[in-house]
Amino acid sequence: MTSIRFEGRNAEFFATLRNRINEYFSENNLQPTGNWKLYWKTIILFGTLVGSYLLVLLLHPENSWIYVAYGIMGLSFAGIGFNVMHDGAHGSYSKHSWINKLMANSLNLLGGNAFLWAEKHNIVHHSFTNIEGVDDDIDLWPLLRVNTAKKKLWFHKYQHIYGLPLYTIAYLAWIYMQDFKKYFSGKVVDRPFKNKLSAWKHIEFWASKLVYVFIFVLFPAYFIGFKTALLGYFLMAIITGICITVVFQLAHVVEDIHFVTDKAEAANENRNIESINVQDDWATHQIRTTSNFSTKSKTLTWLLGGLNFQVEHHLFPKISHIHYPKLNEIVKKTCADFNVKYNEIPTFFEAVRSHFMHLKMIGQLA
Ligand SMILES: [Zn+2]
Repeated sequence: MTSIRFEGRNAEFFATLRNRINEYFSENNLQPTGNWKLYWKTIILFGTLVGSYLLVLLLHPENSWIYVAYGIMGLSFAGIGFNVMHDGAHGSYSKHSWINKLMANSLNLLGGNAFLWAEKHNIVHHSFTNIEGVDDDIDLWPLLRVNTAKKKLWFHKYQHIYGLPLYTIAYLAWIYMQDFKKYFSGKVVDRPFKNKLSAWKHIEFWASKLVYVFIFVLFPAYFIGFKTALLGYFLMAIITGICITVVFQLAHVVEDIHFVTDKAEAANENRNIESINVQDDWATHQIRTTSNFSTKSKTLTWLLGGLNFQVEHHLFPKISHIHYPKLNEIVKKTCADFNVKYNEIPTFFEAVRSHFMHLKMIGQLA
């Protein structure tokens, strides 16, 4: 396991930023956790999932509306993941830890696993963002080459074309492959799990995977036939896959985003490195490796659980996403005061374009 050290040359920046954020919460007498807006959203999203699921069971298999219902289920999966599970896993959904745990565990119902998510996302991705060979979120080679330190293969020059079709299977790959790879290896990329996979966690892993297949494939098949159920399930999974992958990619894989590539460079020279010295302090590193998009859109902010405010999320993951629009102003001002470059793309479509332009550029560079 590579040890990673952040060099704290700009430590005053994060100290000031933290003070300003704390002042904002105390002056306005606010809790950093979620509020009724988030609880309403939870009811709406789970209501949509249950409603569309019931529709699938009740509609005649010949009725093409059944696929619309599956499509809405796919969107609900992504919506619950972004808004409810993600805040719960970070402990920012509620001030009560049992409610956070319950919300984090909604991932077990959606096919994933809350323990593995905490290891992969909270511990590895949030600590070591965009560090090649460490961060699981950019561990995409050979399928995609997201920075020039990784070896270029002949098909990477087409990656901006096959990228989107590839994202359609991202959710299925997560549920049926990547989770099992982590489970059996006990690692996220090169790092062993920080927490112990207890006997209960083992049972939870297998039981929830089986219950998930029963609820979303076998039980509907009893009502609408196996063929329709499987077709609908794949449609749902494709929609979830595209939604989650595009949103994740727009945060860390766009033009002008920073990657730490020491490990990949060492591997190219057949060297092994035991430690990486990141040139920035942790907060500056988060800002250099993360980008916001479309922060003015209230609709996207509502739908994406504030994941269009990834910079604020990466700096303050324990603050609920409902506060990010306000935090955005404070973070931007503090970045300007300390001369730290802040990455924000004005619209969703420009961010999508930037992601695919980045893939195109990296796919063609030597
Ligand atoms: Zn997060």
